[in-house]
Amino acid sequence: MKPLISFTLDQDTEEMCSTLTAFAENRLAAPETFDAEDFRRRWLLAGRQGITGTCVPDEFGGSGMDAVSAAALMEALGRGCRDTGFAFSVAAHLYACLMPVVEFGTTEQKKRWLPALASGELIAAHGITEPGAGSDALSLRTRAVRDGDRYVLNGEKCFTTNAPVADVFLIQAVTDPEAGYFGLTSFLIEAGTPGLSVGRPYDKVGLRGSPMADVHLQDVAVPADQVLGAEGGGAAVFTSSMRWERTCLFAAYLGSMRRLLDSTVDHVREREQFGAPIGSFQAVSHRIVDMVMRYESARLLLFRAAVGLDEGSQDEIGPALAKLAVSEAAVQLGLDAVQLRGGLGIVDGEAETFLRDALPSRIFSGTNEIQKNNIARALGLGRAPHRRRAAR
Ligand SMILES: Cc1cc2nc3c(=O)[nH]c(=O)nc-3n(C[C@H](O)[C@H](O)[C@H](O)COP(=O)(O)OP(=O)(O)OC[C@H]3O[C@@H](n4cnc5c(N)ncnc54)[C@H](O)[C@@H]3O)c2cc1C
Repeated sequence: MKPLISFTLDQDTEEMCSTLTAFAENRLAAPETFDAEDFRRRWLLAGRQGITGTCVPDEFGGSGMDAVSAAALMEALGRGCRDTGFAFSVAAHLYACLMPVVEFGTTEQKKRWLPALASGELIAAHGITEPGAGSDALSLRTRAVRDGDRYVLNGEKCFTTNAPVADVFLIQAVTDPEAGYFGLTSFLIEAGTPGLSVGRPYDKVGLRGSPMADVHLQDVAVPADQVLGAEGGGAAVFTSSMRWERTCLFAAYLGSMRRLLDSTVDHVREREQFGAPIGSFQAVSHRIVDMVMRYESARLLLFRAAVGLDEGSQDEIGPALAKLAVSEAAVQLGLDAVQLRGGLGIVDGEAETFLRDALPSRIFSGTNEIQKNNIARALGLGRAPHRRRAAR
C-alpha cells in the first residue's frame, strides 16, 4: 500500500531509506534471547550504515541530516528491523544523548564524545527517572555537590534504556534543591567511573531487544568540564532531548506500524471464511480503514513536528501531539492486528510482538497523560504546576 502523504526527501535520502530497510531486514534480526555481544555487533553494523549519528554534524562524525530526513531514516529502520527494541535503543541513544551534546556541548565535549558515539563504537544512555521521580521529573533526589573543580554525585536512576551496555551516561542531578527548574544539571559520565554501577537488566513485557537497568551513583566524582550545558541548565537539556525524542524516536514506530498494516491487509485478503476473504466483510474492512486513518494521521503529525525542529521551533506541543498520536495509534493498531488474525493473533508472532512493543510507547518520553496535561496547559486549561517545576 502506498502512503497517502509524502514529505519530499532528496533522492539520496530516499535511496538511503530503501537501502536501510533492506539492510535492517537482512542484518539486524535479533537472536531468540537478548545477547549483549550480539547487540553490540549489530550496533556497529547500524553505525556503519550511518544510523547511529544521522543528525550529528559532519564535522563530528555524523551525517548532518535535518530532522525530517533523520525521521525518515528512523522510519525506514523501524520498517525493516523486526527487533523494535533495537531500533528503540538506537533512537534513545541518538535523540536523548547525542542531540543534547550537539545542542549544548562545548567544542571539547563534542570532539571527545560525538565521533565515537555517531559511528556506533560507543553506546549512550540518558538517566533522569528515579524511583520517586517519574512523571514529576523535577523532584529528583540525585544530588551533585560541587567540590573544587569536580562534582560528587549520589543517587539512584531507574528504567535507564541502554544502561547495561552503555559506555557513556548523561545523568541529570540536582545542584540546587531550592531552584526548581533551574536546580538541575546534566553530567556526561563514562562507564567505569568509580562509584557508578549498573543493576541487573529488567525483564520487560515489550521492547525486549532494548536492554534497560537501574544506575547507582555512590560518591561519583565528575570533573566540572563534564557538565553538559550550564550548571542549572539540566532541565533545558532534558526538555530539548524530549522534543527530539517525541518526534524522531517515534518515527521508528511508524515504520513497524506500516509493516504490520501491510501484513494485516495481506492476511484479510487471503484468509477465507464463509466462502469469501474476510476482508470482504464490512466489519473487517472498516477496521482496516480505521487502522490506515490512525497510521496516516499520526505520520502526518510526526513529520509536521520534524519540520518544526528543522525550523528551530521551541514549540513543545507539536512533538507532544506526535508522541500521543503515534503511540495511541500503535497500541490500537496492535490490538486490531491481533483481532483480525483470530486465534493466530494470540500465538507468538508478528501482531502480538508488535502489541507488546507498542505498550511502553504510551509511557516513555513522558506518559500520554502528561502530554495531554502539557497540551491542555498550553490551551490555558488544567492545573498549573503546584510549585516551580515542570512535568515531563
Ligand atoms: C521502555 C521504557 C524506556 C524508558 N527509558 C528511560 C530512559 O532511558 N531514561 C529515563 O530516565 N527514563 C526512562 N523511562 C522511564 C519513563 O520516562 C517513566 O516511566 C515515565 O516518565 C513515567 O514515570 P513513572 O514510571 O514513574 O510513572 P508515574 O509518574 O508514577 O505515573 C504512573 C501513572 O500516573 C499518571 N500520572 C502521574 N502524574 C500525573 C498527572 N499529573 N496527571 C495525570 N496522570 C498522571 C501517569 O501518566 C501514569 O499513567 C523509560 C520507560 C519505559 C517504559
